Amino acid sequence: MASTICGWCGDRTHMTMVLGPYELPQAVWPVNRHGSTDMDWPVYMAAFKCSNENCERLSIGWTKLHTSGAGHAKDRFPRSDLEWEPVTARRPDFPDVPDEIAATASEAHACLSIGAAKGAVALARAVVEATAKVKGIASNGIQSKINALRDAQIISPLTAATSERIRQDGNSIAHGDIGEEPISTDDATAILEFMDALLDEVFQRPAKLQKLQQRSVERKAGGVPGQAMPPAPGGGPA
Ligand SMILES: [Zn+2]
Repeated sequence: MASTICGWCGDRTHMTMVLGPYELPQAVWPVNRHGSTDMDWPVYMAAFKCSNENCERLSIGWTKLHTSGAGHAKDRFPRSDLEWEPVTARRPDFPDVPDEIAATASEAHACLSIGAAKGAVALARAVVEATAKVKGIASNGIQSKINALRDAQIISPLTAATSERIRQDGNSIAHGDIGEEPISTDDATAILEFMDALLDEVFQRPAKLQKLQQRSVERKAGGVPGQAMPPAPGGGPA
């Protein structure tokens, strides 16, 4: 089984192989840097069924397998990092996050969902930079911005420490030069999870709590606690 985001239903599902890998003709093998077909890397394709019981549609997965490998292509077919068709771009909403930052965060997820890990991480870093800027923090470098957010009690020490932890694991939200680092899908996933947690802490959770407080104030002003507010003047729903 291979795990990926199904390009049909959008769920992260296990894909069950239903048609074993076969070798494609040389015309579609990768080309080496001299411009000729790389005979060491034949390309194999297989068909997979989505395990979501409301989907079960077929996706095509393919990869190149080095000729030096032993055994049948089916046993050597990787369980991750396949190329997939169809792919779908996920674009989650970020309510209560300033529009520009929300759009960039959504696009970071869209990149990750089609396997563009570097693009995802570059955008996630831009989101963190912009978030600090909105909060009036202008220090240099992402980690120092995250630390400044912590010092201003906008994020918790745990959040700042988690950023450090991800950095120690190799790739980080705070790394400098994106062109030079290899970024795996797992790294990018961790970095985007951190970005999501940061946006929640800085924008979404405070907005949610403020709405709760507001509702409580309105209830008191409206009289009996626990009752719905009367319709707003002008007739629209309150
Ligand atoms: Zn599916």
